[in-house]
Amino acid sequence: MNGRIYRVALVLVLGLMFFPPATVVSEAPTVLGLTVKLSLEPPVTLRCLGPTALFYLPVKDLVPTPPLSAAPWQEVGGSTIRHQLTWRIDLVDGRISLLSEQGDMVTADLPLMLYSTDGGGFELNGAFYPGALLLWPEEGLHFFNEVSLEDYVCGVLGSEAYASWPLEALKANAVAIRSYTLYSLGKHGTFDLCDTIHCQAYRGLPREEVFRTAVTATTGEILSWQGTPINAVYHSSSGGRTRNNEEVWVGTPLPYLRSVEDFDHEGRNYQWPQHYLFCWAELTQALGVAVDRELRIVPFFNVDGERLGFWFYSHLTGKQFRNEELRRLLALPSPNFRVFIYPAETEITQAVTLLPGTNLLFTGKGAGHGVGLSQWGAAAMASQGYSYHQILRHYYGSEVRLSCLRSHPRWPQPASRQ
Ligand SMILES: [Zn+2]
Repeated sequence: MNGRIYRVALVLVLGLMFFPPATVVSEAPTVLGLTVKLSLEPPVTLRCLGPTALFYLPVKDLVPTPPLSAAPWQEVGGSTIRHQLTWRIDLVDGRISLLSEQGDMVTADLPLMLYSTDGGGFELNGAFYPGALLLWPEEGLHFFNEVSLEDYVCGVLGSEAYASWPLEALKANAVAIRSYTLYSLGKHGTFDLCDTIHCQAYRGLPREEVFRTAVTATTGEILSWQGTPINAVYHSSSGGRTRNNEEVWVGTPLPYLRSVEDFDHEGRNYQWPQHYLFCWAELTQALGVAVDRELRIVPFFNVDGERLGFWFYSHLTGKQFRNEELRRLLALPSPNFRVFIYPAETEITQAVTLLPGTNLLFTGKGAGHGVGLSQWGAAAMASQGYSYHQILRHYYGSEVRLSCLRSHPRWPQPASRQ
């Protein structure tokens, strides 16, 4: 195999810190999009789906801040990344290593940026990412995708929704995703968003054209309240009725996150697919409740008599858990559940005292936290002829405004990225 070590490797590895690199051609183009951290671990398979320019960051200890493409990148000259090839990205001795199937190699101990000059994008482990790809070696190798807001919304829509849903439902989802994205910026200091459900699931751009159609039809549209994007949370299915935000999470009641009737009854996640049975030891361990002799469980309610959660008391401790906390600690599908003493099958609707050996059975409806837009409810409304405006108004109320984000220095339309 005729392995070729590109000049960039020599420059970056041997001489970069000692003289101005002779390979600098131009300043890097600025993507100025959202910087999304990808949950990828090396080695990663890379294919560049078009001509790709390579940049390096000639500053050793720069603390990254989004957008990363605004950092002082400098281009490495020459055809350094042949896009017809498949490359393997790895971290070798603390240094970025890109190795092609033909033995071409690029190594660097400084951050690298791959920029798709014709907008073709990248394939990473089989998933398609637009914009720019940034490789950041620091205590491991971190992967970032810098992407326009509209491309990001399309990627999240493809990861969080079904292509088979009616277009109006997908448009409602796209507006919610865009609003929630802008509301969420700032959670992570050195980048804008992660690609997990902590922010929103983002697995690159989907192949189905309908997602792009929904995003394009709502380009720049967001929901706002008091002049700022709303916390447009959404979930799969509430199980018949959505929840007030302050009853699921601690916080101020928001006028746009009120409990409303859901239309998710025919949806895939309306009923839990199974019951969840916990023995005494599993339950007390998962909740971190120290018990010596007996456990007293006391439900607590809102003014409408809806149960918000339970107190768990023993002789040693007392802890309060909201339904949403129990969902998280016990890995339940939703906070919309009923609890039964098993096998007696007595539902716990008031204070009870349990002895060691008692089992609890959880059964319920819905999937997700149950606040804001219900995705299966939106799909049902759309199939009944409601528009995405009407769907959004139903789930977020009449106090929010639907407005169009015309321009913002951080969120240009895709065409302005070139
Ligand atoms: Zn996150």
